[in-house]
Amino acid sequence: MYPHLLAPLDLGFTQLRNRVLMGSMHTGLEEERGELKKLAAFYEERAKGGVGLIVTGGFSPNLRGRLHPLSSQLSTQSHANKHKVVTEAVHKHGGKIALQILHAGRYAMHPFSQSASATRAPISKFTPFKMSERQIRSTISDFASTAKLAQSAGYDGVEVMGSEGYLINQFICQRTNQRHDEWGGSYQNRMRLPLEIVKSIREKVGKEFIIIFRLSMLDLVEQGSTFDEVVELAQALEKAGVTLINTGIGWHEARIPTIATQVPRAAFSWVTEKVKPHLSIPVITCNRINTPEVAEDILSQGHADMVSMARPFLADPDFVNKAAAEKSKLINTCIGCNQACLDNVFKGKQASCLVNPRACSETEMPMVAATMKKRVAVIGAGPAGLACATIAAERGHYVDLFEKSDRIGGQFRLAMQIPGKEEFRETIRYFANRIEETGVNLKLDTEAQLSDISEYDEVVIASGVKPRALNIEGMSSSDKVVDYQTLIREKTALGNKVAIIGAGGIGVDVASMITEPDQHGINDWLDEWGIDQSLEHAGGILPLPDCISDKQVWLMQRREGRVGKGPGKTTGWIHRTTLQKRGVNLMGGVAYQKVSEQGLHITINEQDTILDADNIIICAGQESVRPFEEQWASLGEKLHVIGGADLAGELDAVRAIRQGTKIAMSL
Ligand code: NAP
Ligand code: SF4
Repeated sequence: MYPHLLAPLDLGFTQLRNRVLMGSMHTGLEEERGELKKLAAFYEERAKGGVGLIVTGGFSPNLRGRLHPLSSQLSTQSHANKHKVVTEAVHKHGGKIALQILHAGRYAMHPFSQSASATRAPISKFTPFKMSERQIRSTISDFASTAKLAQSAGYDGVEVMGSEGYLINQFICQRTNQRHDEWGGSYQNRMRLPLEIVKSIREKVGKEFIIIFRLSMLDLVEQGSTFDEVVELAQALEKAGVTLINTGIGWHEARIPTIATQVPRAAFSWVTEKVKPHLSIPVITCNRINTPEVAEDILSQGHADMVSMARPFLADPDFVNKAAAEKSKLINTCIGCNQACLDNVFKGKQASCLVNPRACSETEMPMVAATMKKRVAVIGAGPAGLACATIAAERGHYVDLFEKSDRIGGQFRLAMQIPGKEEFRETIRYFANRIEETGVNLKLDTEAQLSDISEYDEVVIASGVKPRALNIEGMSSSDKVVDYQTLIREKTALGNKVAIIGAGGIGVDVASMITEPDQHGINDWLDEWGIDQSLEHAGGILPLPDCISDKQVWLMQRREGRVGKGPGKTTGWIHRTTLQKRGVNLMGGVAYQKVSEQGLHITINEQDTILDADNIIICAGQESVRPFEEQWASLGEKLHVIGGADLAGELDAVRAIRQGTKIAMSL
């Protein structure tokens, strides 16, 4: 079914069992004290699940290259010995694993950061020290000794992180390299660092060791590399002894989304496709590839020799085995939300996954069969209820899942209708198939009452939320007013002037939905973000075009301060940039006075104003739905309340699915 994806790749001295690379991703487990047992368990599940080649999160070759003061580093034999448990766990299941060597350069979040020149990154508080010739030489040697140590720990190779704007990328591009010695100036000089690193690694590790180079093919920043420079470096790297070239897209400081859910699937594989004909070693592509179908399509068209996916393996460790067994409908698809993986890592927390809370908690959340089979009633087939019902059934319980409406999905069914959030549909597809696989008895169009569930051994209430009703004068009698659920569900027709009350995650989603331009595909999206598809401009960027919406939209909150970021740590800026480009008015410090025929009356900066809105959309948070709450006490200890029914205030799918999973594992 996926002949290209599942075909082995012969690297001469070794063979990969398929074309799937699990891309590097920092999980927070790398910094575990003592043996790296949790990291080993995490990778073991992925190797068991069929991945061909795993690349670890980044390990620094020295102290100053660490991303954070306490970040992971591999530079002593005793460090290397601790890694043996990881490599053995992967090899046990026929997988291969490479260690990523990452020197953060000026992205390091500590005062000892170093770079080609002393220029501060826009996303960092620290100005780096300019590296001396001696420091450059010792850094090259540190890269080589880390690679040698990795080899001694049983790794099959290393990946040299040369993209995303880290140290090596900082030497390559004029943007960050203003040196006039043999490490700066001409391109020959600027690419000296990566070439010297690769040569000295190859010298230390011998011929039969994988060296992957993560090459920034599209920097997406001003004064980035030109396409000719990218090709020149790729060819020189091949000569220097690299085994595989991996694709890097965008520096971390770039203001263009590259992996968020709004990015169309495989939106950047065309870049790899353009580099590939210039090389004879295999080339890997990446970014927003999340299904075997998309991966197969890329490979079958010859755009790359391998595909790299990182987050999809947090979402489902068995991705490859399911694809191979023609069970791709049972893959728990990564929806690109970043909410539990990158958002967590950027907050200094351990990574997890919104759709798979077990990710990175494999040792704390083992999947074990129930010792006593129970009858379990779950009320509500939203994300919390679905996670709970399917896991409880998988563990061997008899589960009845009651759903008031005629379909499953709850809030995800609304989310999937927001442009750029279509991936939520995949989670619903996954759960629909899991219900069948695990034997959950789904009762649609069934509003459970106490009498229906009192005989069960365990009762889980996951009845979700409803929009918060507001009490603003004139609102209840106005036909201008609509709540977000009704708007999305019934596709209410809107006038040209729209006021949105509430600028949380949902207000932002609604504002972007109603201002969405007609888009037809990847090319429109690339144009909207000013990405140069001709690759004639350095860094691959063009000026960011405006795409002012025909609609006049006001997005408001009562709080003072920044409006329109949405809740995501790593995605907030994308929402805000999108809304600004479309001309949405972002207003904080608003007091709502009344609704009249004229529109919405507000006070802002102590001034009374009327927004002559045709429609007013309420996105002011939620309230819990708690059916027959007054009778809950009679259920005693067998009652469990989860998701929005438990707490609407911070309604959050990460919490809902995690809660559902944990309860199901405890029954
Ligand atoms: P929310 O994030 O809590 O935002 C509610 C908004 O309504 C706030 O702007 C709040 O601002 C306003 N508000 C609250 N009470 C109000 C009242 N009585 N009158 C007028 N305005 C009021 O809730 P949400 O937007 O419904 O989102 C719910 C959850 O869904 C989020 O927590 C998030 O986890 C999830 N979500 C996530 C994403 C994502 O992209 N990651 C997207 C959508 C939803 P003021 O109080 O300042 O007026
Ligand atoms: Fe994918 Fe979201 Fe899970 Fe991250 S949290 S792996 S983006 S589904």
